[in-house]
Parts: sequence; C-alpha cells; structure tokens
Amino acid sequence: MQSIYTTPSESDHLVRILPPKEGDLNAYRHSFDLHLHTFFSKDAADSPESMIAAAKKKGLSGIAITDHDTCDGVEYLRRKGWIRSDGEAVDGFLIIPGVEVSTKEGHLLCLGTTLPFMKGRRATEVVQAIQERGGIAIAPHAFDRFRAGIRQEVLSDLDLAALEIFNAAVSLRRFNDKAATFATHRSLASTAASDAHHASAVGVSTTSYDLRKLSLSTLLEAIPKGGHLEKNYLSPRQAMQKHFGNWFRGLRSVPASRRLK
Ligand SMILES: [Zn+2]
Ligand SMILES: [Zn+2]
Repeated sequence: MQSIYTTPSESDHLVRILPPKEGDLNAYRHSFDLHLHTFFSKDAADSPESMIAAAKKKGLSGIAITDHDTCDGVEYLRRKGWIRSDGEAVDGFLIIPGVEVSTKEGHLLCLGTTLPFMKGRRATEVVQAIQERGGIAIAPHAFDRFRAGIRQEVLSDLDLAALEIFNAAVSLRRFNDKAATFATHRSLASTAASDAHHASAVGVSTTSYDLRKLSLSTLLEAIPKGGHLEKNYLSPRQAMQKHFGNWFRGLRSVPASRRLK
C-alpha cells in the first residue's frame, strides 16, 4: 500500500498523516521509548510521574516501564489509573507494562505484561513466561558484556520479537553495531531506546510505529514488524548521572520508591 504518512523531520515525534485515500482517519506515527527505569529500580532516580511528564513534553505517545526485576512501578501506575486493563491509552498516552529481567544469561525486556519475580531464571524460561502472558520479549543492549547483555550463543536460541540494536546508554558503541549486524542477519525487527534512569534522558532514543490506533495490542503487533528508529546517545551529563546511579545501586537501604504513598 502506498505510504499515507508525511516524512517526519529529525525532531518530529508525532506526525499527523495526510488525509487518507483508502485508510482511516485515525492513523498516526507514534514515538515510544520502549526501555526506561523509574525509581522502583534501585539505580534510577525519578518517579513514574516524572518519567511520564518528560515523555509527554518530548511529544512521545507512550513509554514502557521496564524496571529491574520488579513490576511495582507498573502496579503503582495501574492503581493511579495510568494503565487501563483493556490496553487503551489514557489521555492519549500509552504506558506499556513491562519489566527488565536479570536472567541467568543477561538482561531481557518483557513488554506488554507483568511477570512474577524471575531473576536468575534461564532466558528461555523467561521468554516462555512472557509469551504465555501475551507479552513480547526484546533483548536490550545485547553483546554489552559490561551491562549484562545476552551473548550471541544464547540470543540465537531465543524467540525474540525484536532486538534493541540501539541503547543510548551502551558501554561501548560497538556493542550497538554488533547488535545491529546480528538483527540484520537474523531478520529480526529492531528497536532503539534510551534506557533512561533519569527523567532528563527519556526519549533520547525512540522507536516510532505507524498505528491506526494507539493501544497496547496494536503496538505489540507492530513491534515485530519493525519501526523507525531515532538514535541518539546520552549526553556526557546524562551518562554521568546514570554512572552515579549505578554506583549507588544496592547501597540504598531505603528504596526511593518508598517515598510514594
Ligand atoms: Zn539492562
Ligand atoms: Zn535497562
């Protein structure tokens, strides 16, 4: 089908389409940050609301909440009415429930569903659990051996919906290049994300999809087909913030999330 979308400029995150000839009036290009952390992750600094506000300010249509080995942030947002049980957007903004699981073989993103605590379990087992719950699995910062990226031998055996080929906070840029090459060879869809641990880094890198409707089900269907990647690295200041966040990880006796009521 002929493309019905305008060409986005580098800075456009939300692009209204041209009047459709045969499509419908509800089709838009939507940008998402598919990997970020709130202070429900011990090494992240800002509240879920701060991350949402930052994303909205940047014109994103949604974000995935992918805290390390906890879905407490997702449950918190459900209670606050930010996430609907039917997967529809709230006030034109879509929160994608998720979690970044520290599997036995490295980090793995679950999008579209929550999971029980699965830290330390085999990656294949986690992928299966994600799929049984209607979610999709994406390997983030693959090959990044300094940040628990899953190595190639394991990746090859996983049923992934996509590979995060651009992580704005990757240790060495060549790890992103390696992931991109792997995705191309395997014909895997790719994503770009900020892996933000602070509100200032939300939306630094994004993936956009042309969706007729902004909802969890349409997005989960679109991700394995591939989107439009906007790739930018964290600024030195943002990288420094993340570095100190990592340093403090585990030292905090009282998680910042306890500040929430
Ligand atoms: Zn990670
Ligand atoms: Zn992460």
